[in-house]
Amino acid sequence: MLASAPKDHRLLPPAQAMAGAWLTIDRGVLADNYRHLDALSGDAECAAVIKADGYGLGAEQIAPTLYEAGAKTFFVAHLVEGIRLRPVVPEARIFVLHGFMPGCAKLLHEHNLIPALNDVAQVREWAALGADHGQALPCAVQVDSGMSRFGLSAEDIAEEGLFDGVAPCLVMSHLACADTPENPANAAQRQNFLAMAEYFPGVPRSLAASSGIFLGPDYHFELVRPGAALYGVAPNDDTPSLGQVARLMARITQIRTVPAGGRIGYGLTWEAQRPTRVATLGIGYADGFFRAQAGSAAVWYGEQRLPLLGRVSMDSISVDLTNAPVDLEPGDVVTVLGAQQSVDALAASGKTIGYEILTSLGARFYRVYL
Ligand SMILES: *Cc1c(COP(=O)(O)O)cnc(C)c1O
Repeated sequence: MLASAPKDHRLLPPAQAMAGAWLTIDRGVLADNYRHLDALSGDAECAAVIKADGYGLGAEQIAPTLYEAGAKTFFVAHLVEGIRLRPVVPEARIFVLHGFMPGCAKLLHEHNLIPALNDVAQVREWAALGADHGQALPCAVQVDSGMSRFGLSAEDIAEEGLFDGVAPCLVMSHLACADTPENPANAAQRQNFLAMAEYFPGVPRSLAASSGIFLGPDYHFELVRPGAALYGVAPNDDTPSLGQVARLMARITQIRTVPAGGRIGYGLTWEAQRPTRVATLGIGYADGFFRAQAGSAAVWYGEQRLPLLGRVSMDSISVDLTNAPVDLEPGDVVTVLGAQQSVDALAASGKTIGYEILTSLGARFYRVYL
């Protein structure tokens, strides 16, 4: 349906007819990706990381799909994300990776969320709240196995009695280099993690995010935490992505022929060497199409690559229509993300990663959830 616009644009719903770009989120592909990662993870529980609004795809729209596909545990980064997600998947376990800001343990608990405790102060505040309730409350304990970002240090966890007032149900850490499987830092972090997890006998362990799953069973432990791979980002350079969940179509807002010597866009950086048919598309850096894409990116019409010309504006880009059919007209659509261009491919042309592309997808798109 979205491969090309009907020529009679009056057939579209008004919100779609007026939009400059359409983002389609295929929840069938998402469910398939989840089941694939779950199978790959063997006996480990496969959770779903759905922070940053489900990597830009809409946490509230996609969480129920993941839940039905089998994900019973979710991770968000911020407390506010957990509060929003709570009513959407009422039966699920939701961990908040950042724990909580000082003084906010009570709020987190009121929303039936579980913090990842990252430092001694968080452990103490969670224990004090438990004391108020007359029972130790469930938590994840995040330990720093080498990334120096989140988590308690080896010295912290060795403190006598620190965890007496809390009830760890997960001990977790995060790998810094899992997308480079040959990197010795992976095995080193795993060794550190194993040693630190010994302080929590019998508590389920979790080390692997998406890329970590592909390091093999030694990294799976009792729970894995994929995010990006669920949404179609490749786990490493040598492993193809799972299905592409997001398809992005930009619409032509105007077509012109720029004469030889004519220039395009801010700074007039691109000059036509010959008369060139050019389309202005309704997508720009305010929509997550980065300025850094200038000079290398392209969009597609079917099998035809349409290179970007000149700079990226806030609300538009210009592309070369030389290879496109002559009957294209305003309202027609070209592919930004889809079968012809994966999220990683677009990222590479902008010198970034698929994660940044997804999480920057704009709020102005007309969204279709399949
Ligand atoms: C973001 C995050 C994940 C998910 O990472 P992906 O690479 O997207 O799979 C898992 N664990 C932690 C602690 C994270 O911050």
